[in-house]
Amino acid sequence: MPELPEVETIRRQLLPLCRDQVIDAVTVKTPYLIKNCTAAVFCDALQGRRVRHLDRIGKYLIWECEGAYPVFHLGMTGIFLQDRRESRYPQHIHVEIGFESGQALYFQDMRKFGKIWLYPSYPEIPTLGTDPITGRITPAQLLSWLQRRKTTLKQFLMNQTPIAGIGNIYASEILFESSLSPYRKTDEVTAAEAQRLQRAIGRILNDAIERFGTTYSAYRTVNGQSGENQNFLKVYQREGQPCVSCGEAIIKTVMGSRSTFYCPRCQK
Ligand SMILES: [Zn+2]
Repeated sequence: MPELPEVETIRRQLLPLCRDQVIDAVTVKTPYLIKNCTAAVFCDALQGRRVRHLDRIGKYLIWECEGAYPVFHLGMTGIFLQDRRESRYPQHIHVEIGFESGQALYFQDMRKFGKIWLYPSYPEIPTLGTDPITGRITPAQLLSWLQRRKTTLKQFLMNQTPIAGIGNIYASEILFESSLSPYRKTDEVTAAEAQRLQRAIGRILNDAIERFGTTYSAYRTVNGQSGENQNFLKVYQREGQPCVSCGEAIIKTVMGSRSTFYCPRCQK
């Protein structure tokens, strides 16, 4: 599933392809992906609009088009692809955005768990917490969030509030980086540990963005290429393999029906 680094990679690559372009025509091939209006309303609202900017909060991609704000959540397998004028039209395309310049972008989603909304102004997403890359979370802020909750660190990171954008892959990697067990109770975390966790969140997510995200299954960049971060994962999908730090075998467990990976020696 695309998490913050994958959505941010897509945003950075899409931006130069669509900024200041005027939308000529939008085609929706799978209307039920649009959640708050009909496909006809969606297409009409975007026709003739100029794309001013692309923003991202957590895993949500927000298009700013002068009075129309389409919002995309990429679900399990959603990506954007640039039309590269290949003879074979790509599969699983649900939305096509054509520009007056003749260029086009495609929204592809194999599993069709993606979601799209249209808003007349910049959307408020009330169920969404602070973005850890653009939102600046201090160690003191993080500690106070942790102390006010009674859950495990893994669940805390995966919940989209108070921190938005982290999913299963990066939650495991962040906890390994901060030497904290996924089972640790949030209200037992010390100030020093909260500081380690805060640093690890920034480092793991920023490193993954620099490596164009993690390709584990469907995720590709806008150019159709794989990310590179899967080559740098230290615990995710490494069960039974030696910990890069201590040599102990990495353990795979299930928490809240999601697989979790950790080193039983390094993470306390
Ligand atoms: Zn270890």
